Amino acid sequence: MSVKFFVGVTLSAFVMACSDGVEIKDQTDSREAHKSETMAQENTANKQQDQNLKFEVFKNDFIEALWKIKPGYALFAGYYKYDDLLVVPNKKHQQENLNFIQATLKSLKSFDLDQLDNNNSSDYFIIKNEMESSIWYINEFRSGEWDPASYNVARAFGLILNTEYKSLDERLKAIAKRLANIPAYYQTAIENITTPTLEHTALAIQQNKGALGVFNKDIPASLEKSSLSENEKTAIKFKLDLAIKAINSYVSWLEDKKEKIADGSARDFRIGAELYEKKFKFDIFSDYTAKESYDKAVEAKKNLHIKMIEITKSLWPKYFSNSAFPEDELLAVKKLIEHLSVKHIDRDGFVNEVKRQIPILQAYINQADLLDMDLSRPLVVRETPEYQRGIAGASVNSPGPYDATANTYYNVTPLDDYTAEQAESYLREYNHWILQILNIHEALPGHYVQLVHANKSPSIIKSIFGNGAMIEGWAVYSERMMLESGYGNQEPELWLMYSKWNMRVVVNTILDYSVQVLGMTKEQGLDLLMNQAFQERTEAEGKWRRATLSQVQLTSYFNGFAEIYEFRESVKKAKGSDFDLKAFHNEFLSFGSAPVPIIKKLMQKKYRIK
Ligand code: ZN
Ligand code: ZN
Repeated sequence: MSVKFFVGVTLSAFVMACSDGVEIKDQTDSREAHKSETMAQENTANKQQDQNLKFEVFKNDFIEALWKIKPGYALFAGYYKYDDLLVVPNKKHQQENLNFIQATLKSLKSFDLDQLDNNNSSDYFIIKNEMESSIWYINEFRSGEWDPASYNVARAFGLILNTEYKSLDERLKAIAKRLANIPAYYQTAIENITTPTLEHTALAIQQNKGALGVFNKDIPASLEKSSLSENEKTAIKFKLDLAIKAINSYVSWLEDKKEKIADGSARDFRIGAELYEKKFKFDIFSDYTAKESYDKAVEAKKNLHIKMIEITKSLWPKYFSNSAFPEDELLAVKKLIEHLSVKHIDRDGFVNEVKRQIPILQAYINQADLLDMDLSRPLVVRETPEYQRGIAGASVNSPGPYDATANTYYNVTPLDDYTAEQAESYLREYNHWILQILNIHEALPGHYVQLVHANKSPSIIKSIFGNGAMIEGWAVYSERMMLESGYGNQEPELWLMYSKWNMRVVVNTILDYSVQVLGMTKEQGLDLLMNQAFQERTEAEGKWRRATLSQVQLTSYFNGFAEIYEFRESVKKAKGSDFDLKAFHNEFLSFGSAPVPIIKKLMQKKYRIK
């Protein structure tokens, strides 16, 4: 547990720091004592400065080394120095990685944790968790042996092709070098895969077939546009052919494998309790166990149902004065939600409605005095650029760690490509009420505000290893916090829609744990999503698929939310009438995207509460 890991490190650091200062020898001589005290303070200050400076140097070295050992990962952080390196995932590389991790853990031990400031001590724990997590992934989780979809080279090539960080010719030269390793990459993949699951094998076939387009269409098209010499072009085309062959033979090897393991000999996609708890510990970084988080979600679902039924009963006569309240209470809730969802903006006004709401939310937050907002880094609402349009309707685009001064965009996808029927279904989902909650979540005071606060104490470590449960937890927390503070005037319809929306993150946790640990079947899963969480079949089927292919990530939203909410309640209780919600929020956000338990620890230390 993360609690144990904290105690083990911090206690010894505390004890050492206290016995380290200049001792005051003569208590009776106040002048002497005062002098020594000043000296001790100066010493402490020097020591702190020294440790923090050293830690900054260590972090820079660490990141440089990290990018070298993970050049593909570096690309997605916007670091392009090693763009021509495609790592072959063999035993040699794995050993290099393990050596790097051990060296990093050893360096961490040389720091006096108590001397580090808040930003550095939270970075310290984040790096430590990342390194311990990597060891576990390599030695225990071993997804490279059972998840064939973990092998796919296309995304990095696509990113190099579509990001103009240097001239096209230069990027094509980097691509040429990377191409050379593709045959060895897939050969190693085949050697590594020993016990694939059926589900991940099917996904790998689909995704690697999809990857071909980058090599037989996109790169050749860019070659034509480039000013490389004919010789250079021919050399790249030759490598492209070999790359395409390697991907094709990987796909046919997988198709063979899939047939062979269809007899029941495939590994179960469910990872089971033991691996799940560990993965939860490393990925979520929580003070709760996965089981505890699941139990909280089960409780939350029960409470949401009670609340939704209560609201539905109170609103029933207003909307259905001619019909009796149905016997099946959840069916009544579903009926009312469907009835209310008809109230929505029309398709052409969708993007403008989002734009219109942003200043309204901002004014409300100021007036209700909920937290500070830095208006020097405004949020730019725009239509999602074509190349980023996927399924998501709205998302906040945060600038990467190497691009921190770039604009923060709120991408909203217009409904241009939808049929009338699709648009109607989408608009009912993001109806009058839910659209407001979406804007709270994505923008104010959700993701955008959190990001602006995080940028005030810039930490490249937190930009790279930002904790997903904290980031999503904050956005989900901000929805509830806004409504509780009086946004929307406690309108029952808004609370009903919020409850449906919140139910989604609650059942994400329940579904993930139930599927991966408790052996939930597809039929049970769909019943949970459709009949108890009021989701449409398409959404439910998609969620089921996600719960079979990934583990733990689905729990991050609810776990982060529950942990932040409970922490706020405990601080509120401890401080009584001195509690200041705005000060709490500002302070909480000042630690950047650190895991919630670390923020808790650092805030509790300051407040001197347990
Ligand atoms: Zn309509
Ligand atoms: Zn989010």
